[in-house]
Amino acid sequence: MAEVLVVVEHSGGEVKKVTLEMLTLARELGTPAAVVLGGPGAAAPLVDKLSEYGAAKVYAGESADLDGYLVAPKAAVLAALVRSVSPGAVLLGSTQEGKEIAGRLAVKLDNGLLTDVTALAADGTATQVVFAGSTIVKSRVTRGLPLVTVRPNSVTPVPSAASAEVSTVDVTVDESAKLARVVERKVEAKGARPELTEASVVVSGGRGVGNADNFKLVEEMADLLGGAVGASRAAVDSGYYPHQFQVGQTGKTVSPQLYVALGISGAIQHRAGMQTSKTIVAVNKDAEAPIFELADFGVVGDLFKVVPQAAEEIRKRK
Ligand code: FAD
Repeated sequence: MAEVLVVVEHSGGEVKKVTLEMLTLARELGTPAAVVLGGPGAAAPLVDKLSEYGAAKVYAGESADLDGYLVAPKAAVLAALVRSVSPGAVLLGSTQEGKEIAGRLAVKLDNGLLTDVTALAADGTATQVVFAGSTIVKSRVTRGLPLVTVRPNSVTPVPSAASAEVSTVDVTVDESAKLARVVERKVEAKGARPELTEASVVVSGGRGVGNADNFKLVEEMADLLGGAVGASRAAVDSGYYPHQFQVGQTGKTVSPQLYVALGISGAIQHRAGMQTSKTIVAVNKDAEAPIFELADFGVVGDLFKVVPQAAEEIRKRK
């Protein structure tokens, strides 16, 4: 495969982990070329990191138009770039923004699109998680080039030093792509915990946690394991934890190395957001809870007894 375009996810001058994963994947397919789209000066702080993970080229599309509007201008610039460089494939993150750009790009290029891809072979065959995560299929784009969104945490990012050549991309955005403008950006206070969709460890609490105060137990376990905190919809709807941490069909999709479910029954809609986790540990007092069908390790017991004991044991071993 020729050049593989990796659309860079970045924020605050830092490359997001999913991009490093995509560069690692792209190296197996062809020559990785990173595409940075953002405001003036967006690319420079990212080039070293992108090189470190094997980007042979960085296409830098910089303009206030790419910062001040929603994703339409980015899709327009990408479509023009794809037409001009004819890459072998285009990879975007299976994130909110990545999927939105990918959908628009597919329409503009009259190209097929596969989302939530967890692996991509050199012949374009993608492993895809569909039907709320209940089925894994092999698919291939038959119209146009392989255009895929890659699920975060599907690939282990491995550095491979390259020296990226930076090439400026022409940014011409017509008025039709500027119909929705960003009026305010609020950056959530970044705590010490990793971002939920990028974390290698996620500890989630459900209705069984009982109340908002008890969620400290979930947070404590997450901090001991260096992980992020997640929550079931029942926990969110009950006001135990904020919605941005909801895992599942109508929440975030996570695929960490370790997922710990505390007081979560394992409804299909929750599974949809976490069942591709590599190792699943569940603590539930009901031995019949469906989460145990999925768990690699299960503890039948009261989480208020089990979690403090587990935390104590982890502390001893640290
Ligand atoms: P419950 O099902 O009430 O389970 C609580 C569990 O805690 C029980 O198994 C109980 O045995 C256990 N428990 C109680 N006390 C203790 C204790 N002291 N120690 C140990 N275990 C204990 N859900 C999501 O999570 N994410 C979604 O994105 C989502 N999207 C949805 C979309 C739609 C359209 C619909 C219809 C539903 C959606 N749901 C989603 C809701 C989903 O169907 C379940 O209702 C929800 O996941 C249940 O959350 P839960 O497991 O925390 O609660």
